[in-house]
Amino acid sequence: MSTITARQWLDHIRALELPRRLKVMNVCGGHERSIATIGLRKALPANIELVPGPGCPVCICPEESVYQAIQLALVEKVILVAFGDMLRVPVNVRKNEVRSLEQARAAGGDIVPIASPLEAVRVARENSSRRIVFFAAGFETTTAPVAAMLAEGVPDNLSVLLAGRRTWPAVAMLLESGQPGFDALVAPGHVSTVMGPEEWEFVAEKHGIPAAVGGFTGESLVAALYSVLRQIVEERCFLDNCYPEVVRPGGNLSAQHCIEQTMEVVDANWRGIGVIPASGYALRPEFAAHDATRLYPSFNDVMRKRAGQMPPGCDCARVVLGRIYPDQCVLYGRACTPRTPIGPCMVSDEGACRIWWSSGVRTPREPARANA
Ligand code: SF4
Repeated sequence: MSTITARQWLDHIRALELPRRLKVMNVCGGHERSIATIGLRKALPANIELVPGPGCPVCICPEESVYQAIQLALVEKVILVAFGDMLRVPVNVRKNEVRSLEQARAAGGDIVPIASPLEAVRVARENSSRRIVFFAAGFETTTAPVAAMLAEGVPDNLSVLLAGRRTWPAVAMLLESGQPGFDALVAPGHVSTVMGPEEWEFVAEKHGIPAAVGGFTGESLVAALYSVLRQIVEERCFLDNCYPEVVRPGGNLSAQHCIEQTMEVVDANWRGIGVIPASGYALRPEFAAHDATRLYPSFNDVMRKRAGQMPPGCDCARVVLGRIYPDQCVLYGRACTPRTPIGPCMVSDEGACRIWWSSGVRTPREPARANA
């Protein structure tokens, strides 16, 4: 496959006689960014739609977790370390309250942006008299290094506020909803590198939806797209691995072992979407001494814990689920831009709204009509 260029794969796609208008979902912010960067939507025949799905971990990190991180920094006076793109994610509070980690830092909170778990360990070692909380939000590709960090052993003063999420249960939820809103799936390459491509076999085997694991190069991405479209044309259905140079059968066993050793699978809240069964991770009881959810009081009241929290007018939940396109949100490009983000999808580099804006989509289209 690697000898065929993206342009050649595109020619193969154009030669297919598709039976109807088709929607193909991706569930990876990296895929969405590649699609926008190479201008793939415009290059495809008009009867193929590419739908961004639940591929942004920052966008679905529950509001109560962000709020808890803010309060730990401001009230408990911990040093709060977090991945950089979490800092501007807004929570839904009154106007006179701190609404993001960035604002908490401006208000005196000790908040350190990091790029890898090793930096959290370094901050803890350099501040041995302080309490450090690592706010760890992300999908499997982020959760695995956090698990490895814990498995190797961390300083006593370091704890983890874990908001790790598993990707495939969100897709399973969409498929089981009766209105998935897509005809085929391009599965995430990096997640499959860690967890194994087999996790996505259920899409084809249980739901009869063609699926292919894709990488981030134009070649791999368009190859995966061609694979699922060809499956539809040929009335076949299986999971194709179009990223074999990186994604191996079984995935990364030592990363999976670290996750199993330190974490257990739990039902978990997705921002604006609600609780998805078996879609998250919690630290195992053996790691209670490093579990910030056990070490600190919860600052979330009952109202804050309700599902569906988004700022008024923000349609991030429907964007994340692929129900509407980013520019169908009434706030897109009006009140909500990267400089003035209202929802998390406009904050993160992996958020569909941010990616679409960065790729030059600046004009909102007609207010939302559901994709499904
Ligand atoms: S445009 Fe802004 S408010 Fe609308 S869905 Fe995107 S992030 Fe949310």
